Parts: sequence; structure tokens; C-alpha cells
Amino acid sequence: MKVYRKSISVSAAVVASTIFLAASAAAFIVHTNDTLYLSWSGESNVSYKVEHKLEMDGIAWSNASPAIIGTGEMVLHPVTNSVGEPFPKQAFFRLDKNYPDAAGSSIQDMLTPVFYSALTNAPFRAEVNRFAYYAGREQFHHPLENPAGEVPSFSAPGWGEFGATKPVRGDPQSYHPASDLYVSSGETNVQLYAAHSGVISVYRDADKYRHYLAISKDLVDVDGVVVGKLSTLYAHIDLDLDEADGLLMNGQTVAKGDLVSQNLYSGTMGGPHLHFEIRYYRAADTGEEEFYGGPLYSEPSSGPWLYGYWDPQVGYGFAHPGNHGLVF
Ligand SMILES: [Zn+2]
Repeated sequence: MKVYRKSISVSAAVVASTIFLAASAAAFIVHTNDTLYLSWSGESNVSYKVEHKLEMDGIAWSNASPAIIGTGEMVLHPVTNSVGEPFPKQAFFRLDKNYPDAAGSSIQDMLTPVFYSALTNAPFRAEVNRFAYYAGREQFHHPLENPAGEVPSFSAPGWGEFGATKPVRGDPQSYHPASDLYVSSGETNVQLYAAHSGVISVYRDADKYRHYLAISKDLVDVDGVVVGKLSTLYAHIDLDLDEADGLLMNGQTVAKGDLVSQNLYSGTMGGPHLHFEIRYYRAADTGEEEFYGGPLYSEPSSGPWLYGYWDPQVGYGFAHPGNHGLVF
């Protein structure tokens, strides 16, 4: 709930015209020659409830308006009193935004039993709903698509698809929250492009992935508040060869579609391929962005992160590429 306060200067000379007083990026108090009202340009599919009070109303907030989806208006008060004097001088209003429930969205693969049981934990559920709303609007660039719009012939075998179970290090039921993309030619000189803008936040060797890099991006709401973060991870690559080629990406800022690697690792089991992973992170969590590299798939990483899904303790989850417009 965000509270806005606005001082209003109403004189006989200006009352006749319409005046917009910016109160936030999305909401305005407007007064015309006879009415003071609130007008907001809402985001699609987001519902808004508005409460208000004027200086003469004391401390009580008005009853909330009915929830309005998207853009709306709400009459606050006549702009003059019974004897024609302008008032009020100050108006306060608060907008309560409710994002669509993620359980009914195309992004529900990020959700977990913890989310579904969170009916009694409304703040957590609201936080995830808000995150899912902004995450779901991110459309990614295909990591194999070159600047000419060409994608080499590739395959994603069933056992390597997102969400498939895959035998990993003796655990036949290990979950594979990623997509494995095999370029049909089998060559290792394969150019990989940033799925989205961001910063190369991870660039390292790891037990499980061998060399990999990750691009991270904050998700920001309409008021400029960071609501979470997403990362894409590009694994089984050869950073030594990339660096020999002059491609030094560690810490670099990249734009969507920028080249980030051009060497798959030749020694990967099953043949050279890109292991492409999408992760979501809660804004509320702190700590190192660490990707797990322990002896088993389910081993916790170092730092506070645990392998798993989105819940208040774990803090991150995995995304299906289809959530971001990618079809593998
Ligand atoms: Zn994989």
C-alpha cells in the first residue's frame, strides 16, 4: 500500500481549468471546475483499490473503492464548499495494487507447494504474484540466434528438456531444470547470444557445469522498485578458448542478443551442447548469487541458497523457457 500526499492550491482563477498534479508516475489528482478526482493510468491486468482522505476528514480513510482493473478514476470531493470557497488544500490517497494470481498464469511452473499453501501468508503470495507479473513480461532472445536472425539446426532430446528427470551422478531421478541444446553439426564453435540484457554476474569453472557464465537482470516495477531478479545460465562452454579468442565477458554489461561465448566444451558427456537455464530470485533474499556445484544435484550450494524451487526459505526457482517466448 503506497500513500501519496499532495498539496492542492485552488484559487478562483484556476478552478475553471483542468489541472493535473503529478502524485506518482501512475496517478494524478485532477480538479476541474466543480470536482476533485483521482485518475490513474494502471497496468493491464492489475487491480487497484483506492482509499482517500481530505484535510477536513481527519484521520479516517474513506471506504475503499471497488477494485478496478487497469486505468481508472475516482471522484474525491466537490472542489468548492457550500458557499463557493475553494477547498480542500490537501488530499491524501493510497493505491493498493493487486497483481494477477500467478497460479492461473502461464508462469506457474515457478510456483511450489509453498506458494499454494500460502493462502494464509498473503504478503508472501502477493510478493510472488508481483514478481511473476514482471517476470512474465520478459521476452527472451533465442541463445543460438545470430544477428542475421539465423538459428543453426539443433535438437533438445527428451531427457535433456526442461523439467525432465535425468540420471545424474548415480541419481536416476535428478531433476533437470534446464534445456540442453545440441547443435546438429556436433561442432564446438557455436556462437551463443544473450537472451536478455544484464550483467555477466557469474563467470567460472564449477564441478557440475564445468565452465559457465550467467547473465543477471533486476526486474523493476512501474514505480522503479526492484521486485526480484532473473538470470540465464550458459553452461558446458569453454571460457579458456573464448578468452583466447579475445572474448572476455566477466562482469561485462550486455544487451539482448550480444555475443557471450563461441566455444562449447568438447568433452561434455553426450556431445557438445549448451545447458541453458533460467532462474528467478526473490528481491527479499540477500546473499551471494551462487550456483550449486556440489557432489549431487540436490546438494546445497555454498551461501544461503539451496537447490530447489521458489519458497520463502529457498529463494529461487527455475523457469520454463516457454515463459519467455522461447520454443526449443
Ligand atoms: Zn543439461
